[in-house]
Amino acid sequence: MRIGKIFLGKLALGLVLLAAGRDANASVSSPSAIPESGGNAVDKRQIAIVIDDFGNGMKGTEQMLNLPIKLTAAIMPFLPTTKEDAEKAHRLGHDVIVHLPMEPVRGQKNWLGPGAITTDLSDGEIRKRVEAAIADVPHAIGMNNHMGSKATADKRVMRIVLQVCKEKGLIFLDSRTSFRTVVPAVAKEVGIETVRNDIFLDDVYTRQHALKQLQEVKKLLQKNERCVAIGHVGPPGLSTSDALRAVIPELKGKAEFVPLSALLSLPGPFTAQGLQSR
Ligand SMILES: [Zn+2]
Repeated sequence: MRIGKIFLGKLALGLVLLAAGRDANASVSSPSAIPESGGNAVDKRQIAIVIDDFGNGMKGTEQMLNLPIKLTAAIMPFLPTTKEDAEKAHRLGHDVIVHLPMEPVRGQKNWLGPGAITTDLSDGEIRKRVEAAIADVPHAIGMNNHMGSKATADKRVMRIVLQVCKEKGLIFLDSRTSFRTVVPAVAKEVGIETVRNDIFLDDVYTRQHALKQLQEVKKLLQKNERCVAIGHVGPPGLSTSDALRAVIPELKGKAEFVPLSALLSLPGPFTAQGLQSR
């Protein structure tokens, strides 16, 4: 079942966000496996829940921020509740990252919202926009891409984005909206550590679907030491937060919920498999 991909943001801004075509079947991947050492392997497992699309007074904002875990709030710049959401998330002990709107393969550029990174921009303009976005989101310790299947497959663009992140000491989380992502290669070149998304929780906007994806998270945690899962405020905000709340107690027995920054400086690269492009 697929539910409408396009939704309207706050009309005041005339902003249209594209809750892009997440493909449930393609959203599982296999990061580094745990060696069969036994012992307290379970204790080491970590799960980072990242919630995208804050900043525009989206549905489920309160419910997500008040979940009984440390999560990472990905907040879009230049929107009505950008600062409010960032302050609140920070106050509650969550990590804050910039949710940078980036050009998708499909869809119109003007759907992305203010300050978007598109592949037709000059080097100087891309740098200016990335710096402005970082400056607009208080407490940001990192960045991930909103949409971006085209921009994250563009080496010139990503070189600048990752270079600015490196200069500002920010983590980059590759949402992996394109299987052609150049982030791993360019990150190596630029010399910045990145993290990648393993699974989207709410390709379909129902509690049942989010619960199914959380079962996949459990399976990933049996094989891997750590897992990054992305959910959203907005159309799926209430159903996803509800599913998370239901499953958190059980997951807490299997892994520690950590903000994104806790995943860095761990041994072993995150390997990559393609997520559906968007
Ligand atoms: Zn997004």
